Amino acid sequence: MKAIGWDDVKGCAVLEKYCKKCGDFYPMTSEFWYRDKRSKDGFRHCCKGCYSELPSVIKRLQIF
Ligand SMILES: [Zn+2]
Repeated sequence: MKAIGWDDVKGCAVLEKYCKKCGDFYPMTSEFWYRDKRSKDGFRHCCKGCYSELPSVIKRLQIF
């Protein structure tokens, strides 16, 4: 039986992105981050959880 080494794992490892707002790391996928075409890495600077807590977003949600 062959043991699974790091070489087998790193091929499918998902990059993680740091959220400055909550100080946590999340996988760089659209599941955790909203996409932003103007951003360098293609995602917004804060995670989905923090984004929904932004004052401007809360304001918008309360109107509709
Ligand atoms: Zn966050």
